Amino acid sequence: MIVRVPDIPAEGLNVVETTALGTVYRDPAWRLDDVRLRLERDGLDVFVTGELRATVSQTCGRCLEPSAVTVTTAIDVRLVPRPATGDSVELARDDLDVDFYERDEFDLGALIEAETAIALPMKPLCREGCLGLCPVCGGNRNAVACACPPRPPDPRLAVLKDLAARLPH
Ligand SMILES: [Zn+2]
Ligand SMILES: [Zn+2]
Repeated sequence: MIVRVPDIPAEGLNVVETTALGTVYRDPAWRLDDVRLRLERDGLDVFVTGELRATVSQTCGRCLEPSAVTVTTAIDVRLVPRPATGDSVELARDDLDVDFYERDEFDLGALIEAETAIALPMKPLCREGCLGLCPVCGGNRNAVACACPPRPPDPRLAVLKDLAARLPH
């Protein structure tokens, strides 16, 4: 959804319909479930505040299976006109994220996509207590209980340890 800055009314604009935004995420596995945004104009600055909830597909950090993750995040972004090359922009020293817009308009969908990506967990898990992959056979231990013995200690490591023990301290 392209928002033209001059079209934002003086009293602000509420965006509460996900359908009004059109396609937000380039990844079809991502879905915007709920959105409550407020757009306000202050001179040339635009403030986008509110929150969103999305369901995205991420790879589990342990078993590498794709899994649906629900992301809820607060949005607090200030958009300012992109300065001409060479000009520097003075950034406010507060918690707001600052972004730029060009030619009087910005893509609200792209902003939502970027904010969702920032909010993703660093180490997603398909579920609490995922058993992960077996280091020996590579099988998914959530699906099959393999009978692999625990991986034996690396003999090269043992040699190094032995060496370290013999070195004077
Ligand atoms: Zn997993
Ligand atoms: Zn195994």
